[in-house]
Amino acid sequence: MSKGTIGVTTDNIFPVIKKFLYSDHDIFLRELISNAVDATQKLKTLSSCGEFKGELGDLTVKVSVDEKAKTLTISDRGIGMTGEEIEKYINQIAFSSAEEFLDKYKNDANAIIGHFGLGFYSAFMVSGKVEIHTLSYKEGAKGVVWSCDGSPEYEMTETDRKERGTDIVLFIDDENKEFLEKSRIEELLKKYCRFLPVPIAFGKEQEWKDGKYVDTDKDKIINDTAPAWTRKPSDLTDEDYKKFYHTLFPSFDEPLFWIHLNVDYPFKLTGILYFQRVRNNFDISRNRIQLYCNQVFVTDSVEGIVPDFLMLLQGVIDSPDIPLNVSRSYLQSDSNVKKISTYITKKVADRLQEIFNNDRKEFEKKWDEIKLFIEYGMISDEKFNEKAMKFALVKDTEGNHYTLDEYKTLISADQTDKDGNLTYIYSTDKTAQYSYIEGAKAKGYNVLLMDGQLDIHFIGMLEQKLEKSRFIRVDSEIADRLVAKETKSEVNLSAEQKETVSGVFRSQIPSVEKAEFMVMFEAVGESAQPVILTQNEFMRRMKDMSAMQPGMSFYGEMPDSYSMIINTDNRVSKKVIDEIEAACKAEAEPVKSDINRINSEITALKEAQKGKKDEEISAEDKDAVKQKEAEVEGLRKKEQEIYARCGAENKLVRQLIDLALLSNNMLKGEALDNFVKRSVELL
Ligand code: ADP
Repeated sequence: MSKGTIGVTTDNIFPVIKKFLYSDHDIFLRELISNAVDATQKLKTLSSCGEFKGELGDLTVKVSVDEKAKTLTISDRGIGMTGEEIEKYINQIAFSSAEEFLDKYKNDANAIIGHFGLGFYSAFMVSGKVEIHTLSYKEGAKGVVWSCDGSPEYEMTETDRKERGTDIVLFIDDENKEFLEKSRIEELLKKYCRFLPVPIAFGKEQEWKDGKYVDTDKDKIINDTAPAWTRKPSDLTDEDYKKFYHTLFPSFDEPLFWIHLNVDYPFKLTGILYFQRVRNNFDISRNRIQLYCNQVFVTDSVEGIVPDFLMLLQGVIDSPDIPLNVSRSYLQSDSNVKKISTYITKKVADRLQEIFNNDRKEFEKKWDEIKLFIEYGMISDEKFNEKAMKFALVKDTEGNHYTLDEYKTLISADQTDKDGNLTYIYSTDKTAQYSYIEGAKAKGYNVLLMDGQLDIHFIGMLEQKLEKSRFIRVDSEIADRLVAKETKSEVNLSAEQKETVSGVFRSQIPSVEKAEFMVMFEAVGESAQPVILTQNEFMRRMKDMSAMQPGMSFYGEMPDSYSMIINTDNRVSKKVIDEIEAACKAEAEPVKSDINRINSEITALKEAQKGKKDEEISAEDKDAVKQKEAEVEGLRKKEQEIYARCGAENKLVRQLIDLALLSNNMLKGEALDNFVKRSVELL
């Protein structure tokens, strides 16, 4: 027997391990099983190159719990260790600049273990004592037992062990009794070891006998040693892919499609990523990509490791180049990890392009379900955007799909404005904007349906990418004006007429919550509606955008401003304009001319005072201006009263306004009720 002190420079690493690693101490099992798997793989390699000539035998790694002895044992039939090897690999720990490092990574067991090569020592996170029983595969090797109770002193004894391989026996301490529970160990094995390349046995298969389940002799293997991603795509059927998907995500619907990743150079990477329907809630499928390193589970929180939009995918990525034992921040800045994520982005785009090329129909059918994902990718990732511009689709209100290039060709003849800009007309709500869509279609325009969660941002992105193009919502302008053309028909009304008619209309607009109206005149054809409401594209977009951004609620609070356009070509509007003229011209005109006269007097007075200092103007002159201004104010009031009376007398005014509000779904409550009653009366 030999005794010695573990070679560390800090006094005692065990308190460090226990204290700092306490938070995620369950990784000890992953570490020990990984070592067992490594030892087994090494033996296989030695055997295949002829360096080991003996029988490999059953290479299953066994995990067992002895509740009475309070031990957890991990046994492998791998290469084992000689006494010298234990001395070299276990007893000597490179433990330089420990303090500084520990301080930095206090809460990150992975980082600490990785940094110091402490995989094996993580056993002390949960054990009062640890034993290694081992026999090397080497000819003439002697069995060794190594034992350590958590102090830097260890004991090492030769034994007559006959079985090649290693048993690691953990004497679980009182604080960690949970690791003697079968269910807890099963849970950990399921988390870390599900896809390890060597069979891992825990417990026995059970059978139904005499009215209850009893253990059989057969070991229960808890892992799948050849998960789908490690196999050749040509060996897998669609069913295999779907089956594997459901082992990973049992409660999810069938995936839409998938990508099998497989590269050797410049880094090694395999994996399968699945597309699931993403409709609304972004968070549903986040963090459903599992990262593996040689089939050992590393993490399923991939934030910062893969681009954000890819987090909407599900599946596994396995790369020996993803470091197993490092901190998250390290993982995020690791250049291999960065390369990997660029590669995946490219692969995803290529795969989508391939599906698009091979089966456009299928692609269109699934478009609505992957649109959110693709749009998110295009908005947030420049590289993906470049590729996706070729297969991203837009859909019109009739349900036809087009690529961006196809759509451009489709609309370029009719929807290019006088300055050569291509106008994309879109609707965000097919039902609410129905009459506007019909209006635009009647003009020969095509209307896109942009009712997705990200469409506003998508439009913003397209406007930047597509040259000489602009997007306009179908209800932002009267159909005639959606695409700005050279010819614009004249409105045959004098300034006075306009003032009177708009005054009368204004007096009749009901108050609508958070909305403001400006009365305007346009000659937009006999068949167009008599009164049309439009909402300025720019203002509306500002509001829409701000609604999505916290801290911008200022815009959200502002009223929506609408243009209420009176179509001077429409028969009914013409009639109403004439009636207004007839009814209030006689009364309003003298008031108006009074206002004009007094206003010009005010202007003259002010002109005379121009250039003078305040004290040089006589009090009389100042009063004269004030008095005249008050007079104008009074006359204005009178004018408004005339308009209001005239408007109230002419039922058609209010009727036309209500009709315009109604087609925008803005006529509610009492106003709606009045409208219905008035309509009946007018009939
Ligand atoms: P790492 O695995 O990162 O090298 P560990 O502390 O986990 O660090 O293990 C140190 C070394 O001890 C391993 O590299 C290996 O040589 C040896 N070792 C550990 N466990 C086993 C085992 N079950 N069988 C054979 N050798 C082992």
